[in-house]
Amino acid sequence: MTQINEMVENNNQKQSMSKQNPDQMHKLAISDGWLTRAEQCRSANFNQRPPGQTPRLLVIHNISLPPGKFGGGYIQDFFLNRLDTTADPYFTTIEALQVSAHLLIERGGQMVQFVSFDQRAWHAGQSSYRGCDNCNDFSIGIELEGADDIPYTEQQYQQLARVTAALLRYYPDLTAEQIAGHAEIAPQRKTDPGAAFNWRYFSQHLRKEVSG
Ligand SMILES: [Zn+2]
Repeated sequence: MTQINEMVENNNQKQSMSKQNPDQMHKLAISDGWLTRAEQCRSANFNQRPPGQTPRLLVIHNISLPPGKFGGGYIQDFFLNRLDTTADPYFTTIEALQVSAHLLIERGGQMVQFVSFDQRAWHAGQSSYRGCDNCNDFSIGIELEGADDIPYTEQQYQQLARVTAALLRYYPDLTAEQIAGHAEIAPQRKTDPGAAFNWRYFSQHLRKEVSG
């Protein structure tokens, strides 16, 4: 390589590095089942996985409270059993439920973790995956703040891919082929994440995260 070529090459490298979003330059880390860079809101709605069960399925959900409305912090309140039932009439229909997910990804990509990925969160309900019932025993549940027919945000796709890549690194029994929507494991009861979730687009993001 001539000197001038080398200079051009170095300069190009610097430019492409400076264009990268600093947030994208390092991967997400998990420690003791907790994402090190997610907000933690520890829910009481969890228990231990049965002996010998480790995560081997990732379940993608959506939730919005009240349905179709975003923001407000009601999802956190719901998973923490402190929903103010006077805030919306819909809330009285769900106040008795004790549920949780491991992680919520909000519209802007902010992440809130409620349960350690090592523990059993209560997100799937009656469910079956490839002949195995009770998916909560062996799955991780991620909620996207959203609704079946409202497009998810770019930030949500990016963040979901980053978290999934981190989970694939952390849990050897989990592979990129073992990702399902809630509707797939509970088809009689559930429709989320709905037609709005673009599986192909998510896969593209995930491939980049896994190979990057
Ligand atoms: Zn769901």
